[in-house]
Amino acid sequence: MPVKTIIEPFRIKSVEPIRWTTRRQREQRLEAAYYNLFLLPADDVLIDLLTDSGTGAMSTHQWAAIMEGDESYAGSRSFDRFKNSVQDIFGYKHVIPTHQGRAAERILFGVACKKGDVVPNNTHFDTTRANVEFVGAEAVDLVIAEGHQPALLHPFKGNMDVPALEALIQRVGRERIPLVMLTVTNNSGGGQPVSMENVRQVSAVCKRHRIPLYFDACRFAENAWFIRLREKGYESKTPKQIAQEMFRLGDGCTMSAKKDGMANIGGFLCTNDDLLAQQEKDLLILTEGYPTYGGLAGRDLEAIAVGVQEALEEDYLRYRIASTAYLGNHIASQGVPIVQPPGGHAIYLDARAFLPHIPADQFPGVALAAELYLEGGIRSVEIGTLMFAAAAQMDLVRLAIPRRVYTQSHIDYVVEVILEVWKHRETIPGMRLTYEAPFLRHFTAHLEPVKVGVVTRS
Ligand SMILES: *Cc1c(COP(=O)(O)O)cnc(C)c1O
Repeated sequence: MPVKTIIEPFRIKSVEPIRWTTRRQREQRLEAAYYNLFLLPADDVLIDLLTDSGTGAMSTHQWAAIMEGDESYAGSRSFDRFKNSVQDIFGYKHVIPTHQGRAAERILFGVACKKGDVVPNNTHFDTTRANVEFVGAEAVDLVIAEGHQPALLHPFKGNMDVPALEALIQRVGRERIPLVMLTVTNNSGGGQPVSMENVRQVSAVCKRHRIPLYFDACRFAENAWFIRLREKGYESKTPKQIAQEMFRLGDGCTMSAKKDGMANIGGFLCTNDDLLAQQEKDLLILTEGYPTYGGLAGRDLEAIAVGVQEALEEDYLRYRIASTAYLGNHIASQGVPIVQPPGGHAIYLDARAFLPHIPADQFPGVALAAELYLEGGIRSVEIGTLMFAAAAQMDLVRLAIPRRVYTQSHIDYVVEVILEVWKHRETIPGMRLTYEAPFLRHFTAHLEPVKVGVVTRS
């Protein structure tokens, strides 16, 4: 029988209760959190789509591996298993564990970049941009033009604009570009994939100018699946073969194991450059830990060793990508503006199109995220003017789907809440900042609704 329903490829062995709140309670909690959903206690959230980072459910194999964790300070057996598993997929000579992705970024940029340098990326993720800027370098986003048009359909909207990369190298000179980065999938640009063809072209430009190419590899498995689905010649390759081919085109990577590492914590930094690796390990010892644990417990290394392999399983990826598309397609079919096509780990609402009466400087994304919480206890995150200030090209609200956590009925509920908010969208007020920190302000900002005349809810 040809089966059309794609089911969760697992059964549930352990459950975690979630808690309902009343609308009145949510109004109070939101005000107490200064309209910033990062400041909400998680217990007051019913469905938490704030992030897919570290929020996934681990498998029985991962939990079993955790019991095998070797907590030796130096030369732990768990490090060898971690390194072998990572090298099997990524193929790089040096594998340096870190406590999460941003630690890998800080170490890479701390060692490879200096003031006045320029780092091109398809789109820098927020922590990546902040770490580039922290060393005094400039983070330049070079995603293709299609990547800036939320409604436009394109199979690889995460691609880098190769002529723009060439032009940038001509303009600033290769000496000022210590590395080029490709984020797969492109998180801040809507979880959109990068094609193998684009990786090949970017890699060729980098080679010609002798600039190393690094991947921000957080969602490498999802990117591999999109290549298999959408790029000619990859239909019968396994996700692992595709990932291996992609990584061979680069010189190293940063990775958050909280994403396609399927773990609750962890990350790593890879490079083929011996000298750089030595400097990175020296800095690692100073701030993260000895190079065979890098700020992680032996058991965390075990969970990652199993997790990176599980992320590439076909049944898992088929279900993962289908369930994200399920949410996106159900709301888009009712007119809700989303970044098209649905990405890998998240659906991004286009807040500027959803709330055209709210100007960008009144944070339409923050306003929409607040309303989704008020309406149904759903937590999402703004990726827009609050996160990136003047550099924001779009105002999006990201609904990130934790891995292997929510079932289809949870997602049906999310669809229902979004459609309810869509019905009364004209009544939603803009937001005003009352406090901001100098770096990564979205994590701690305080806001309040902008009072506009008399707004009544019909
Ligand atoms: C999550 C993420 C990071 C940072 O990783 P953390 O583990 O959160 O520090 C970097 N780049 C991208 C694309 C990410 O999604």
